[in-house]
Order: sequence, then structure tokens, then C-alpha cells
Amino acid sequence: MNKKSLHKDTLVIHEGYDDNLHHGSLTVPLYQTSTYSFENAVQGERRFSGEEAGNIYSRLGNPTVRVLEERMAALENGAGALAFGSGMAAVSSILVHLTKAGDHILCSRGIYGCTFGLLGLMKEKYAITHNLISMTTEEEIEKAVKPETVCIYVETPINPTMELVDLEAVVKVAKKHGLKVVVDNTFTSPYLQNPIDIGADFVLHSATKYINGHGDVIAGLLIGKDAEEIQTLRMTVQKDYGAIMSPFDAWLLIRGLKTLPVRMEKHTANAEKLLAFLKSQKLVEDIYYPFDNGNPQFEIAKRQMKAGGGLISFTIKGGKESAQLFMDKLELIKIAVSLGDAETLIQHPSTMTHSGVPKQEREQMGITDSLLRLSVGLEYADDLVADLQLAFAAVGQHSSTHA
Ligand SMILES: *Cc1c(COP(=O)(O)O)cnc(C)c1O
Repeated sequence: MNKKSLHKDTLVIHEGYDDNLHHGSLTVPLYQTSTYSFENAVQGERRFSGEEAGNIYSRLGNPTVRVLEERMAALENGAGALAFGSGMAAVSSILVHLTKAGDHILCSRGIYGCTFGLLGLMKEKYAITHNLISMTTEEEIEKAVKPETVCIYVETPINPTMELVDLEAVVKVAKKHGLKVVVDNTFTSPYLQNPIDIGADFVLHSATKYINGHGDVIAGLLIGKDAEEIQTLRMTVQKDYGAIMSPFDAWLLIRGLKTLPVRMEKHTANAEKLLAFLKSQKLVEDIYYPFDNGNPQFEIAKRQMKAGGGLISFTIKGGKESAQLFMDKLELIKIAVSLGDAETLIQHPSTMTHSGVPKQEREQMGITDSLLRLSVGLEYADDLVADLQLAFAAVGQHSSTHA
């Protein structure tokens, strides 16, 4: 059988693992070990010199973690992958790898709150500067490139405004100027979007979210299109900064990842039902979802994404007070940050995930006090609609009695 032609639905279950090499164990064994014994002293010498492949110490590689890395590389159509202890460890490692003091990073207008914090730290400590721009046209991106720019770092869809970055335009400008492109692909998962296919050099995930999908692990993954560069990263930044993933977390992620395709289908189907419901609500002002006829970026969405995914943001009439009352009136839907879990979650970005971003910058990113972000879970859609309906009714009643 031609293993090269296997579909992603098959790869999430089989890639990178041969049960014949593991006593026939159907599932990937958990190698909960810190180190590995050598058969003799010369073997130890050869492993350290790189003449012989094999395990040395779990900060440099672990068989359970390796299965996850190979599986993710295949799912993102990359040549290699590295697993990290958190999504932020993947973000910081790739940025440390690509930059030196005095360099410049060009970023999408909205980025994850802690990535924003990291960029501030890099500026303060190493004079590595950055710009946040909307990245809607090639001209706009090109104009922002400086002589000291070394990479373009983007999220798409952008958290939490669901604005899209045109990846084709980004790649075109990057190629022209010899810049590396890094895409935080957390919001779509490899099932809905594969930036390496469009020309990105690196893709990263907070595996805490859709990759795991069960809300019980913090983890990160970085995939690269160049196997040698990933190996260099493994033996430099990852080895020496040490932000590795534990074997147990890798084992949980391997288990979660098997259902990624079925989960993403259901997240999307549920999101589409909630989208239709939200559109019918008088208290809802604007709705942000990539696959929506009303979205001016729908064409970009269709070009680079397979479906809309499970995240919907919307603004509610009445500002912060309404937003907080609405969240408090929900019963099934949990008030929590994070996303991509089986449970539907709601959060208020301006006071939660993006509260650390200065107000002016936050509003430039489109994050107002009226904005709410829903991570649509895997429950029965009508039960979610009923929960939302009661909360809207409570907010409606409150605003009419206080008008
Ligand atoms: C959660 C998240 C991160 C950070 O990941 P952690 O696993 O929490 O460290 C980075 N980017 C995006 C888009 C995220 O949602």
C-alpha cells in the first residue's frame, strides 16, 4: 500500500507508529523515562557524536513525543516537527531562533495576548522591534518591510476578531524580500488550514486547543518545511532553553488527535447553527465568522480554509455591563478562556485574554468591551441555542427595566 497517499483522516491515527516495533501494542506506549541506557561505552560515544541515531536523554528526544512530532509534520505537510511544553514555548522558541538583537518582526494586526507580551520583552531586552499591520494587501505588507525585517509572524483567523490575513499575499512579499513566514495555526487546526502548502516556512499550534481537544493538557507544536532546520532547532534553542513536552502530555495528545477530523466537522456544524441563531438576535450587533456570506473576507476564507471552524465572536448591545450579565446568565456554556474543547466556552477578551494589551492598542485591534468570543463545543446544538436564548432574554429584560 502506498503510504504516501494516505488521507489525513488516516494519518491522525497511524502516522509515525509501527506496532510491530512495540510488542504489538495497538496504542502508542508511554515512554515515561528521563534517560536511556547504552549497550556499551562506544555506543554512548557514537550517539553523542551523531554517528548513530538513537535516544540519549528525554530533553533531546523521547519515543512517545517523537510519534506525535512525526504525525503533526505529516498533517501540516511539513518535513519535521518539535513538541513544546506550551504553545508560548513554541512561539518564543521560533522567534528566538529567527532573530538576533536589532532585528525587526512584521506581525498581523492582532496576535495572541502573550505573544504580544513576548514581543514587548524582546524589544526591551534585545532591541528586537515589531510592527502590527492588517495585512490585507500586498502593497500594505511591502510598505512595512524594513531593512532589518527578518520574518513575518501572523495569526489567521486573528484572535478574537476572526479577521483574516491573506496568506498568499504574505508569502509573495516574504519571498521577494527573503523573509521567513511563521503562522500561528491554532484557531483552525491542521484539518482546516495548511499554511506550508501556501508557502509558509513554519506553522505553530497551541496544542492545548484543538489538537488535544479535551481541555486537559498545556502543550505546543512547531512544524517546519525544512527537516534540517527543525533538527538544528531541536539541538539548539529547544535543547538549551529546555521548553520540552512531557511524554505523558504527548501520550494524551496522541489520543486526542485521533478524533481531530470528526471533532472539527462537529465544531463547524455546531458553529454554523449558532451563527444562524445569533443573526436572529436583536441584541447582537456584529458577528465575526470566517465562513459567512456577510463577511467581506469570505473570498480569502474560501481560498485558504476548508471550513469556518468552531470560533465565533460577536458584539452585544449595552457594552461591558450587558456582556458580563449575558455570560453570568449562561448555564451550560462555561465562562472560561482557552478554546477547542468539547465544552462550549465563552470569554470577554477586553477583560480576560487581551486585558494586558493597552486599551488604545486593544481598540485598534477591534477588541471593544462589547465583544464576546464563543468557542463552540461538541454538545447538541439545540441545547446550546436554548442556553443562549435564556441569557439573551435576561439581558433584554434587564435593559428594558433600566432604560
Ligand atoms: C492559546 C494560544 C496560544 C498560547 O498557547 P499556550 O498553550 O496557552 O501556551 C498561542 N496562540 C494562540 C492563537 C492561542 O490561542
